[in-house]
Amino acid sequence: MTGKPDKNCIFCKIVKGEIKGDKIAETDSFFAMLDINQDIKGHTLVIPKKHFVTLFDIPDKLGNEMLKFTKKVAGDLLDKKLGDGFNLIMNNLSVAGQVVMHAHMHVIPRNEGDGIRFLTRV
Ligand code: AMP
Ligand code: ZN
Repeated sequence: MTGKPDKNCIFCKIVKGEIKGDKIAETDSFFAMLDINQDIKGHTLVIPKKHFVTLFDIPDKLGNEMLKFTKKVAGDLLDKKLGDGFNLIMNNLSVAGQVVMHAHMHVIPRNEGDGIRFLTRV
């Protein structure tokens, strides 16, 4: 929650290099990697290197920088022809589907007729 590493957090372990992440890009503050689930090719996660749990915990300045970095990552995915558009999704807290409690933004390339639908009731 505070920006301090959490020794049990899988994304902190990836940032520290203790576990390998499939890196797409990084800056001093952020890391972008392919989601381990490549059901949607190019599905990418943008994470702050510091451990924050949700969007509420990310300081505003860092949050603005995260959006800027996310724009760059999304643009690169489109340049690589992985999609003609993209979704940004951020799950905040368990009830909203957050499983990894280290804040992250999903960048999901989209293509015509890909059949993906979000936010439907089961
Ligand atoms: P969320 O439900 O928003 O917390 O999403 C967590 C995401 O992290 C899921 O899409 C997982 O597939 C992904 N994930 C879990 N472990 C890893 C990992 N070691 N490397 C990359 N992505 C991961
Ligand atoms: Zn973490």
